[in-house]
Amino acid sequence: MSDSPHVFIYLTGPGWHILQEHGFLNKDCKHQFPIHAQLGCSHAALSTALTGKKPDEHGRFSSYYFKKSNTALETAQRFYTKVLGKKSGYYGKYSVPIRNLNCFVQSNHQAMSLTPGHFAPLISIVDLVKEKKLAHCIVNANSSSPIPALKNITRRLENKSLDFAFVQIEEMDNLLHYYPRDHQRISKKLKQYEKQIKKIISAGNTKNSNFNLTVLSGHGMTFAPQKINIKKKIDSLGMTYGYDYHAVYDPTMALFWYKTKFAKSIILDKLRELRHCKVLNLKDKKDFGVNFKDRRYGETIALVDPGFQISPNDVLAKPLPGMHGYDPYHSDSLGACLSTQAIAPSPGQVKDFFNIMANFVNEHQ
Ligand SMILES: [Zn+2]
Repeated sequence: MSDSPHVFIYLTGPGWHILQEHGFLNKDCKHQFPIHAQLGCSHAALSTALTGKKPDEHGRFSSYYFKKSNTALETAQRFYTKVLGKKSGYYGKYSVPIRNLNCFVQSNHQAMSLTPGHFAPLISIVDLVKEKKLAHCIVNANSSSPIPALKNITRRLENKSLDFAFVQIEEMDNLLHYYPRDHQRISKKLKQYEKQIKKIISAGNTKNSNFNLTVLSGHGMTFAPQKINIKKKIDSLGMTYGYDYHAVYDPTMALFWYKTKFAKSIILDKLRELRHCKVLNLKDKKDFGVNFKDRRYGETIALVDPGFQISPNDVLAKPLPGMHGYDPYHSDSLGACLSTQAIAPSPGQVKDFFNIMANFVNEHQ
């Protein structure tokens, strides 16, 4: 066992502004960096953090992707998911219209991200840790309380049986979707985490000469009370959904696939005249790492302004007070990196999280 373990805590939900506003760990983690978010759902950001690659390389981006089913059985399985699928967190059931079940697959990124080989042929930090045979604790606390996982890390540091830890905490994502402006509720939860993390830092410093802890956050949360009904505008064009075009409406993005050039030009014209909505150009797609060669996440991606939610959409039964998935450079979207140690070069985007972790693993003796 080495004398320099490193614990990484990955928070889904609270970004730079919330952590700053509540002074989260500001006495312990003196090295603090705002991070440009990864465009896409939470698992797009997590996948980018774990692999150091963008969505157009690791394939995780939004709620549905285009894939024709090859058999009637496959379509039947999608139907089964739609009808019997359980609610998971704030997400509802598979909500793509039944007539289009043969074209779309619900992205189920939720599970298995922290298992070895999950991103093959890409290498994730989980693969590196296993390959290096580090004494590790890699755990997803899901939407339940992360306190038992954090206590376990403290115990393992006290026993000197830990080199590397990665704890993914999703609990606050739900809280912030529902109560993005409830200062008291947010503060209470962050204080719970802080108390346990301080114990981790104390145990790590007592037992080791060079202990480090880094908090990572892949995106923030935006108060989003305004609605925009893109579906209605597109429906009014008189095109036939599933025949002239396909569409998926996420809370912050509308994705389109076209059967004809005519449909493409009519829909693009309509999208471009909508207020509070931007059609991503090629440069945007490349910048955000969402330039999918096979266009599985849409030929056109229309992103709404922060503060707006596409309603109705194919993900939520009704809009939530807080949402993420907006322009990664917008201040409310910012993620964060807070560390007990100096980090060079300074991280600026979510894919840099992988390098921070990989550098630690590669230098670990
Ligand atoms: Zn979320």
